[in-house]
Amino acid sequence: MKSHKGKIDIICGSMFSGKTEELIRRLKRLDFAKKKYKLFKPVVDNRYDNNKVVSHNMNSVQATIISKSEDIYKHIKNEKIIAIDEAQFLDEKLYGVCKKLIEDGIDIILAGLDMDYKGEPFGSMPKLLSISHDVKKMHAVCFDCGETANYTFRINNDTQQVLIGSEENYKALCKNCFLNKIK
Ligand code: ADP
Ligand code: MG
Ligand code: ZN
Repeated sequence: MKSHKGKIDIICGSMFSGKTEELIRRLKRLDFAKKKYKLFKPVVDNRYDNNKVVSHNMNSVQATIISKSEDIYKHIKNEKIIAIDEAQFLDEKLYGVCKKLIEDGIDIILAGLDMDYKGEPFGSMPKLLSISHDVKKMHAVCFDCGETANYTFRINNDTQQVLIGSEENYKALCKNCFLNKIK
């Protein structure tokens, strides 16, 4: 029997809630501890910078860009920790990939939107949340009223689930403001 198994820690919440900032904070701590990790992000997320994960306040960490979940295997050398930002954009195989990685003793820190712009569970996030070891739900400030926001509201009329953007396409809203807007 293997003596060690990995675990998944998840940082979730709406856009502008500080997920990427929190992820970067944890990665910087690993730097201090001299623990090796590899950070991945899906190719669809091309905001700000291609080879970096960048938060809305412009903090950044070098990242490996992948087009599909299974690419993660190819890029791991001897890192015992991997991180993923914008995990909701990766394909549905991410769940199986993460399960295999933790069985191999790798720890995963994963950040992603828990809900899409309709308030529905996003991509592999619900399944990953159910097998995670720790979950931190982040909250933004409602753009409309200043209350605690946990929804991402799309400002334009596009209806596809994935539409990359920032303030030009989305705003964070509290439950009240969100529900009043979508009905
Ligand atoms: P996420 O990855 O969750 O989209 P980031 O970590 O990239 O979020 O950015 C969080 C930062 O966004 C905050 O620290 C703040 O500077 C900025 N920000 C802009 N609008 C808001 C808002 N409405 N609520 C909270 N933070 C906001
Ligand atoms: Mg982010
Ligand atoms: Zn509000």
